[in-house]
Amino acid sequence: MAEKVCPVCHKELKLKEADYPMGSALFKADRVHVDIYECPECERVELFAAEPKLVKCPKCGTLHSPKEACAVCALNAGLDAEVVK
Ligand SMILES: [Zn+2]
Ligand SMILES: [Zn+2]
Repeated sequence: MAEKVCPVCHKELKLKEADYPMGSALFKADRVHVDIYECPECERVELFAAEPKLVKCPKCGTLHSPKEACAVCALNAGLDAEVVK
């Protein structure tokens, strides 16, 4: 595995946030997950594509990150709430 180093000061980057969801929840297909690395020296932040580790929602079968709630169910719950009032 290649070491992740800061392109400016060549310090080893530290993992700040793993599998961070980028993009809008409304455009699920466009959403990408990234690992965010930060340089301890100059605080430069570098993004790397995260390995997708998806789980299947037990309710609707949608694949999503285990770190976040199912976007489809969240959306449906929101729509239901709109209808109820
Ligand atoms: Zn740096
Ligand atoms: Zn779901």
